[in-house]
Amino acid sequence: MALSPPAGTYAVLGHIVDAPQLDVVRGLDEPSLVVVSGSGEIESVHRAGAADAAASLEASGVTVIRLGQRDFLVPGFIDCHVHASQWAYMGTGIDRPLMADDGFLAKYAFPAESALNAQTAGEVYRAAIDDMLRNGTTTALVWGSARLDASEEYVKAVVERGGPRSLIGKVSMDRHCPEGYVETTAQSLADTEAFVLRTKAANDALGLPAGSPPLVAPAITPRFLPTCTAELLRGLGALAEKHDCFVQSHLSESCDELAFSSSLFPGFRSDAAAFAAFGLLRRPSLMAHCVHLQPGEAELLLQHGCAMAHCPTSNFFFAKEALPVRQMLQLGVKVGLGTDVAGGYSPAMLVSLRHAVLASKTLQFRRAKGCATLRDRHNLSHTDGLHLATQAGADALGFGGSLGSFDAGKRFDAVVWAAEGPNVRCYRGGVAEEPSDLLHKLLTNGDDRNIKAVYIGGRRVV
Ligand SMILES: [Zn+2]
Repeated sequence: MALSPPAGTYAVLGHIVDAPQLDVVRGLDEPSLVVVSGSGEIESVHRAGAADAAASLEASGVTVIRLGQRDFLVPGFIDCHVHASQWAYMGTGIDRPLMADDGFLAKYAFPAESALNAQTAGEVYRAAIDDMLRNGTTTALVWGSARLDASEEYVKAVVERGGPRSLIGKVSMDRHCPEGYVETTAQSLADTEAFVLRTKAANDALGLPAGSPPLVAPAITPRFLPTCTAELLRGLGALAEKHDCFVQSHLSESCDELAFSSSLFPGFRSDAAAFAAFGLLRRPSLMAHCVHLQPGEAELLLQHGCAMAHCPTSNFFFAKEALPVRQMLQLGVKVGLGTDVAGGYSPAMLVSLRHAVLASKTLQFRRAKGCATLRDRHNLSHTDGLHLATQAGADALGFGGSLGSFDAGKRFDAVVWAAEGPNVRCYRGGVAEEPSDLLHKLLTNGDDRNIKAVYIGGRRVV
């Protein structure tokens, strides 16, 4: 099977599976056909009569890529919270508290980030980009470091590699950071504006097809309330407005962080109220974690069009709490899924997906006696996890109309997974051979070894 797309229009035939909503999975019952234009847009999707449609396309000279019996074409994953600048220590440090003198930030995050410069950052960022693509991530909301030159290396590396699509932030922080890795307020604002302008220019220079989401775009990125003065936050809010720029930060992650930020901003009822007052909750914007919300805080985020990144892996370690994802979605808040490397130890969205399912179980365990509704209120299945990792993430980043599922008019960002291998066992003629079983096996036991191809905008990148 040749998986590299030809020039011009082509089509893919086989199990073309997506999860456009919670509790909804399409494409498992019979083969589908997706037709991709030469500019990387999905022209049409045939959910019935796919084989006949494929035959007539082939008769007119269009190449049809036929997937194997145990292959699945799935939308590319969307990682809504990942620190590319922390790649070097991924897999360690998570047993520390977030805020202590020898904690995660002081001992790992700040030294790793401050070591990045124009000479050293490229190698780290190229590794991060390779790991994301190799694990099926085609779009990410990324954190660089507080250094302008180092963060620009990420932009260069994405343009060079052709993915993943990245909203990328140069971090802003002007207090409570180590000497040598803290900005003045004026420098932080000047560097942030320069980064916004240069990143937009880098994307404009690509000449992407009309209607395409960007390959690179800037995100205004105050680290979190404890490391930002009111003056910096106000200035960043003004820059977001001036350049109509996406905003990301951390919100209500851990109890030690919350106690510190409320002591620094005593005039506000919550983290969200402070961000809102400085113009940093806007549509679209996204806050990571949100696991220790005050009453009314979720409604405030919703009112301002601010999404949440659910980062279950790191929440188990630092937050010691789980986001009630289903309840937030029912409230109307957009919730995507994040790996939170290096607060999370894996760059694979499949790992975050599994941990989101497990985190939902911990909410069901709580007060379980005599409460029959806990399962309904909190349960996430693995296919719900697939929804969070794809369409929900696209919605959270403001790209829901162009990414996240297989529908005509969207971009063809997709991954071919093989439900077969040493980690995903299948015995022909045995039980558990239905497509739904094979997909479940992939979601629970699959990893990068099961990926055959990754496409961004119709172009093969892995
Ligand atoms: Zn983070």
